[in-house]
Amino acid sequence: MGLLLSQLHESQGEPTAEANTILRSRIHRRRTARAHRRYPGPETTAGDRRPFAEAGGGREGRQSRIDAVLLTHGHGDHCVGLAEFSTGKSFEIPVYAPPDLIHFLFGFPGKSRFFSDLGRLARDYVVPHALVEEGRLELLGGLRMAGFEIDHTDRLPDGSCFPSSTYGYELEADGRRFIYTPDLGRLTDSLLKRVEGADLFMLDGTFWWDDELARISGLAKRSYELGHVPVEESMEILIGMDIGRVIYTHLNHTNPLLDPAQPMAARLREVGFEVAYDGMVLELY
Ligand SMILES: [Zn+2]
Ligand SMILES: [Zn+2]
Repeated sequence: MGLLLSQLHESQGEPTAEANTILRSRIHRRRTARAHRRYPGPETTAGDRRPFAEAGGGREGRQSRIDAVLLTHGHGDHCVGLAEFSTGKSFEIPVYAPPDLIHFLFGFPGKSRFFSDLGRLARDYVVPHALVEEGRLELLGGLRMAGFEIDHTDRLPDGSCFPSSTYGYELEADGRRFIYTPDLGRLTDSLLKRVEGADLFMLDGTFWWDDELARISGLAKRSYELGHVPVEESMEILIGMDIGRVIYTHLNHTNPLLDPAQPMAARLREVGFEVAYDGMVLELY
């Protein structure tokens, strides 16, 4: 199984500030006649057509097609890319999200919201699915997925979250486990229990320091206040745990990890953790 993690905008090579905010998953072996019919491939130089079934990236641009979208929460950097589907690239793509996020983006029957009003997005291009927390779903023939609530978005006095609650995702295939929490306010005990023994944990790397914005931009907002556990602290908690790979994603432009020459980047490498980059493909075999 291969997982291609990226925003819905293409970019090349280097780590970017908002890499990996929408999860695209696919399985190499899934090449059905139905897929060929629904997802015509790009023109090749010879003029023939081929399905979007091979790995993305490379000199010819993205070759993959998107089979499913898992949304974590309602902040714009995690869901506005859905609008790209309204240009007719693909059809009937399932979009999974926490129930309050589905309502926030698509509304209810008879009462639409932004995405259900945008072009023909809701009717012809994506199919919204409200998830049940911890409910296991099988996607793409062999990839199992479950969403679970994590700390990140603001909690209102009535107990709801604005603009939605936040889910992390646990994906499993061929006995391998992948936990994905790109925006994460705290490493709670229950989350630590979940990531123990996982093959891959990809998590929030927005800020290195809690006071990073004050240091670099002069803004009096702390990382924790904005719903992001700083890498400096999460890294220390994760050192020594039984996790196959730890990869930080969602780096803010102020994060010193973006410069491999910085001592923070050296420290991360020293403990064996990694920084994600846009277009990264993860093999979980
Ligand atoms: Zn967020
Ligand atoms: Zn974010």
